[in-house]
Amino acid sequence: MQISESKRLFAHAKNFIPGGVNSPVRAFRAVGGDPIFIKRADGAFIYDEDDNAYIELINSWGPMILGHNHPMIREAVIAAMDNGTSFGAPTAREVEIAELIVSMVPSVEKVRMVNSGTEATMSAIRVARGYTGRDKFIKMEGHYHGHGDSFLIAAGSGAITMGHPDSPGVTEGTAKDTLLAPYNDLEAIERLVEANRGEIAALILEPVPGNMGLTLPLPGYLAGLREICTREGIILIFDEVMTGFRLAKGGAQELFGVTPDMTTLGKIIGGGMPVGAYGGKKEIMEFVSPAGPVYQAGTLSGNPIAMAAGLTMLNYLNSHPEVYTRLNEIGMQIASGMASINHRFGHDFTINQLGSMYSLFFTEDAVTDFESAKKSDTLLFGKYFQAMLHRGIYLAPSQYESLFLSTALTDDLVGKILQAHEESIKEIL
Ligand code: PLP
Repeated sequence: MQISESKRLFAHAKNFIPGGVNSPVRAFRAVGGDPIFIKRADGAFIYDEDDNAYIELINSWGPMILGHNHPMIREAVIAAMDNGTSFGAPTAREVEIAELIVSMVPSVEKVRMVNSGTEATMSAIRVARGYTGRDKFIKMEGHYHGHGDSFLIAAGSGAITMGHPDSPGVTEGTAKDTLLAPYNDLEAIERLVEANRGEIAALILEPVPGNMGLTLPLPGYLAGLREICTREGIILIFDEVMTGFRLAKGGAQELFGVTPDMTTLGKIIGGGMPVGAYGGKKEIMEFVSPAGPVYQAGTLSGNPIAMAAGLTMLNYLNSHPEVYTRLNEIGMQIASGMASINHRFGHDFTINQLGSMYSLFFTEDAVTDFESAKKSDTLLFGKYFQAMLHRGIYLAPSQYESLFLSTALTDDLVGKILQAHEESIKEIL
């Protein structure tokens, strides 16, 4: 496989862009080698600048749940562009997508569109603080909520991958209001609540975290958080930027039957365009300007092209429940296929999988929180990543990420993924 053009572009990019990329994990730092530069994508495949084809298991970090360059989304975008690219004024489509989100996501009674997941989580915390009149909030170790200052403390995803879970540039004053808790530990939350009674505005978490590798909630954990937050007047925020419209059409909250007070959304909601959203109970969302006093705004928020892509995506998912049946099937085929291959080679590595999200950890211990995720052998992960890449399978270039499957994966492609896995495991062990 020749990848000279990507190499050339990366070397050139480093002259003009910090680290040569516009988002850190893309630089392949954690897995070695140079990143591949993508020229185009279609269905289950991406193609690099040297025209090598790869089967896609990241799908733009989640949004492309139906595969790349889906004709339905493409047509919606092109049709919207005929009428102009941005107005900075309300449009009918924004009302339509808001109504649809409210009908799909159990906790959302009112919703505000923004341009990224980062904006959604930053805004949700501000609203929770404004609503409760309290300053502190609880965040889970290893969870990632975008790059807002107050979240870059024990942060997962690219932050831990780059070795900076606590980012320089976040002031002590900001950091002191972020209280940290281990995931899946209700007693730790009780202790934090006890020590900070009446001062905690919100508890935010990824209900099914993907940003320390996929990790599942223990039975009763989410319901336990719901109970504590209700009792203490704490706003429970589910960050469903990854899981929203992916684990079910109503996200993890639908799947686990636990309704938070607020929800943050991104990725799939934009159908591949830059979109995020936050929503929740009417009485809380009525605090958002201009209905209420908490300020939040955006020049490009509700952008007509982005709304056309998002609305088309959500309408499709809302009316095609078979998408989720198929995604569950593919997820289970891949996870169980990999588990039996690993077993044959004498290593029962942990595979966490739920629907179309999964992570393979190079440890045989259960992974249920940040500490156990960090037990994975990341050097071995790097070797596995490269072995898969050279067999034409494009994985997330970090152990601390989930993979995202799309409906574009056929049984034949699943077979190819498993064959590449078997060869790669054989090569690296
Ligand atoms: N929240 C979660 C759970 C995420 O996974 C991410 C990004 O991966 C974000 C927030 C931030 O979203 P964005 O990258 O669109 O700002």
